[in-house]
Amino acid sequence: MNLVLLGPPGAGKGTQAARIARTFALAHLSSGDILRAEVRGGSDLGRQAQSFMNAGTLVPDGLILDMMAVHMGTPGASGGFLLDGFPRTVAQAEGLDRKIGLLGRRVDHVIHLVVPDGELESRLTGRRSCPACNAVFHVANNPPKQADVCDQCGTMLVQRPDDQAAVVRTRLATYHELTGPLVTYYRGKGVLADVDGSQAPDRVTAAIEAICAPRP
Ligand code: AMP
Repeated sequence: MNLVLLGPPGAGKGTQAARIARTFALAHLSSGDILRAEVRGGSDLGRQAQSFMNAGTLVPDGLILDMMAVHMGTPGASGGFLLDGFPRTVAQAEGLDRKIGLLGRRVDHVIHLVVPDGELESRLTGRRSCPACNAVFHVANNPPKQADVCDQCGTMLVQRPDDQAAVVRTRLATYHELTGPLVTYYRGKGVLADVDGSQAPDRVTAAIEAICAPRP
């Protein structure tokens, strides 16, 4: 099974993706996490992507498609994958269809997490992330036991540069303009399901699992 998790920044894609990937034994491919690892590693791709990421705008489609094709083609992804943060434009979705079509595969479900913009802004600006293990906390809703220290690995937490208020507004505007049309694209293919992403995380997980569970 191949899944796409679609939703604005701050909708909870990362949290849900980790859980759903575990439940259905899928490779979790987060384009944002892969790009941040490229930036940290100082690769050519990381250097090309960094300025777009810091500004809250999208990295060019060609770079993203090539990068994701590599990750979708690894042996770890051969049993199915969950795409998180990709595709983000109609051109990326068309490129994805072409690339997995060549492998005789398809997108089985697209889960669309729906959350109002006001809630997204407070989720993102209060978010603190662990640069070592990618664990995510929130200053008010999910604080670490010790202020600014990762519960899982003890590393100092950081605010991602793109979680600052001005950049968050750009990211949300970019989402509505460029990623919003994907809802129509995938609804037209009959694979899209809307899920209320403002519910408690466990309820969101249960709703996604019910959509993806194999039919008898
Ligand atoms: P995320 O962690 O998914 O919010 O991604 C962080 C940043 O990485 C985004 O604001 C973009 O600059 C870049 N990025 C991640 N995924 C994509 C994508 N599919 N297409 C273009 N840019 C992306």
